[in-house]
Amino acid sequence: MHTSSSLHDALHQRLAQVRLLLLDVDGVLTEGGVTWTNDGVEQKTFHIRDGLGIRLWQRAGGLTGIVTGRTSRVVQLRAEELGIGFVRQGVEDKLEMTAGILAECGVPWEQAAFVGDDLPDLAVMMRCGVGVAVANACPEVIEAAAIVTRMPGGQGAVREVIEQMLKARGSWEAIVRRYQPASA
Ligand SMILES: [Mg+2]
Repeated sequence: MHTSSSLHDALHQRLAQVRLLLLDVDGVLTEGGVTWTNDGVEQKTFHIRDGLGIRLWQRAGGLTGIVTGRTSRVVQLRAEELGIGFVRQGVEDKLEMTAGILAECGVPWEQAAFVGDDLPDLAVMMRCGVGVAVANACPEVIEAAAIVTRMPGGQGAVREVIEQMLKARGSWEAIVRRYQPASA
């Protein structure tokens, strides 16, 4: 039997231990909309603050990966821009694919976080040390998540998760200070 504060401490501990952040794309890094050009090219809109968050996370030593069911060139381009180490598109079984990524980078399940929004994310989220649902995830994903973000997918939800992990490690304040003007 846990008190709510010991549950909170346990979650804080798990957040502080995350080394690999895994992200779904549609509905997590984007709002979920997919636009097609007349030439059949898929377009997506990403949030710039998620991008800076991912860079800050990586600069703090964190690993990042994308595991998505769809396949598009724009995801490859965005991942390259951000230096995301693991990019897996067209994934049918996210649990199996994630097991492969973890084996490749030597990170145990307990030190992985997965951010999802829909049913294909459910099994892998529940297996990871920290399963995160974006605010507008489907009800089953929200129900299963250890954390539900305040922000919806594509509007800074990933940034929010990264802030929580860095705050749990106690390193967020130092990061923010780098952006603040030097005091006289
Ligand atoms: Mg999704």
